[in-house]
Amino acid sequence: MPASPFQFDNSYARELPGFSVPWQPAAVPAPDLLYFNRELAFELGLDPDGLDGPDGAAIFAGNRVPEGAEPLAQAYAGHQFGGFSPQLGDGRALLLGEVIDPSGARRDLMLKGSGRTPFSRRGDGKAAVGPMLREVLIGEAMHALGLPTTRALAVTATGETVYRERPLPGAILTRVAASHLRVGTFEFFSARRETDRVRQLADYAIARHDPDLLGTDDRYLGLLRRVAQRQATLVAGWMNVGFIHGVMNTDNVAISGETIDYGPCAFLEAYDPDAVFSSIDHGGRYAYRNQPPVTRWNLARLAETLLPLIAGQDSKEAMSEATRQATGVIDAFPGWYEGALLTGQRAKLGLRGEDDATDRALAGDWLTLLHDHRVDFTLGWRRLADAAGGNEGPLRALLTDPQAPDAWLARWRVRAGSEGNTAADWSERANLMRQVNPAVIPRNHRVEEALTAASDHGDLGPFRRLLAAVQRPYDETSEQAAYLEPARAEVTACYRTF
Ligand code: AMP
Ligand code: MG
Ligand code: MG
Repeated sequence: MPASPFQFDNSYARELPGFSVPWQPAAVPAPDLLYFNRELAFELGLDPDGLDGPDGAAIFAGNRVPEGAEPLAQAYAGHQFGGFSPQLGDGRALLLGEVIDPSGARRDLMLKGSGRTPFSRRGDGKAAVGPMLREVLIGEAMHALGLPTTRALAVTATGETVYRERPLPGAILTRVAASHLRVGTFEFFSARRETDRVRQLADYAIARHDPDLLGTDDRYLGLLRRVAQRQATLVAGWMNVGFIHGVMNTDNVAISGETIDYGPCAFLEAYDPDAVFSSIDHGGRYAYRNQPPVTRWNLARLAETLLPLIAGQDSKEAMSEATRQATGVIDAFPGWYEGALLTGQRAKLGLRGEDDATDRALAGDWLTLLHDHRVDFTLGWRRLADAAGGNEGPLRALLTDPQAPDAWLARWRVRAGSEGNTAADWSERANLMRQVNPAVIPRNHRVEEALTAASDHGDLGPFRRLLAAVQRPYDETSEQAAYLEPARAEVTACYRTF
């Protein structure tokens, strides 16, 4: 292996001193690579063979800091369940450094669970095997579903015990992200009235994520608009796969538009817009149906931090004009979201052309049907693809009354059939629908089963098999069969995430 397996180029450390604290990972007793993502390593331009072993384990456990790394803990704040926490920050994570992948994209490499930092407060700075493998499973599933996401490069067991409700085996996640800039990063400096630093941060974010805005006059408003548009697309994508993030605090909203921080997240089974799984979300603030309005609320918090920059000067007139412009962006969010949602729904319904009013009603009534009959969200859509292919039985079997979808199916056949109504058209439509309506998602009971086997029994078999299945979400081959079915309703009804 060469001196350093990474060619780091650490712009955050170099360009934003004072936005983080240089820090070292804690040494751990027995690094053991539980998971290594060779495909992602290759995508990053790394040498998979050199890292997929003890050398990689030492690095990913934090025991050997590779040459060129400049580990640091980033400062950030955040609104958590609506209340502002002025100082959160990387309490159990370190940005190891940044690499430029062969496509030219800058990617963060972060260790999560690497020990206490100045931001740890009362936390131990550690992470457990189960939750870190959960980040692998959900992140890889989201990636395979075509949604922007941070991804796991590695999970390394530490040989330590961490104490939660009970003793658990410890682990460190190596996470890859387009960046770890969060709405909460802006809030940290804004709350301290450090406008110059908010500007430095915004300029850095623009250079990194929206370089075409560099040098334009209204670039800070432009940044807000881009972040809002990325979030609109992202959350529409979540809604169309039935994903519930679970903890949409502003410190978990990435400027890049990637899904970040897979904690108490879960996928819907029986379709219910009010679904909440997180044990700490008592008020249902982050329920499935609230994700779009909560995102708008989170974007308003970002907008507030950018107002002095958008205004450009410290006058009352300039600030009120900035407020008017920023409000315009926040008010445009629902329209961007609805547009992205409908685009996704059209593809899921097998429609090509755009007939806004008809398509919106068709999608809305379909969801009502799923809700009224407590149909599994994923299978409902997947069996609609089968119905397009001429096989309506499996769809009807999902409903308490097999005749219930008659009227809706008739309307759908007219609308879709207007874009081609031959047997060949319908068969092609069914194929296209199977490329956007997944058969396999990480089912909650399967995830729990895999994590329990790994964490309690050191058996990674179920994790590896589930991972392989969710990485091919559109395949419905016989190996996938075991991963299609939802849990029994009584299991799903009391499912809680932590
Ligand atoms: P999260 O809920 O994972 O998004 O984290 C919220 C905040 O709590 C962040 O500042 C984390 O760094 C911090 N945090 C979470 N768990 C720990 C831990 N075990 N030790 C120290 N800080 C933690
Ligand atoms: Mg977080
Ligand atoms: Mg977390």
